[in-house]
Amino acid sequence: MKREMQGWYADAMQRPSPHKNSRPLDEVSLLVIHNISLPAGQFGTPYIDDLFAGCLDCHAHESFVDLQGLEVSAHFLIRRDGELVQYVSCDERAWHAGVSSFDGRENCNDFAVGIELEGTDTLPFTDEQYDRLIRLSFSLMQDYPGITLERITGHSDIAPRRKTDPGPCFDWARFKAGVSELLSGEVTEEK
Ligand SMILES: [Zn+2]
Repeated sequence: MKREMQGWYADAMQRPSPHKNSRPLDEVSLLVIHNISLPAGQFGTPYIDDLFAGCLDCHAHESFVDLQGLEVSAHFLIRRDGELVQYVSCDERAWHAGVSSFDGRENCNDFAVGIELEGTDTLPFTDEQYDRLIRLSFSLMQDYPGITLERITGHSDIAPRRKTDPGPCFDWARFKAGVSELLSGEVTEEK
């Protein structure tokens, strides 16, 4: 995948979010995997885009009451069919991790890229999602060498007791094997 100017990726549909600001340091050295669905367990709705755009109609579903006024975003969303949406430039700070800590360092948003998979903790993710995630992660690792395999983590790992995503259905072994395969050059990157 190709990175365009200023941290935007050409293969992604762009939906710029106002929920972002500058990174305090010029550093991108962590990749955080999440899951999200709105309402929980329903896929293909416009509500994730709306939430990140700050225009979610909190009356559209009873569960959205809790989301009133919430200012959140992620850099990317991978939908169930593998479609990639980008909300924030990777060079800027998206607001996905919240109170968090990785390897003794707090405020992971400062130095992380956040990828949301449309899904839940209790359902397997799709082949299309793994395929897209593997290729996107590989591209990010090329563009931001601070992101290594050891520095790809889950939201639940950096915010334990508070967050559970991407959840037990996310197949870390499959994902990391796929990225490793691309890194080893055995498979040429699809364009
Ligand atoms: Zn999360």
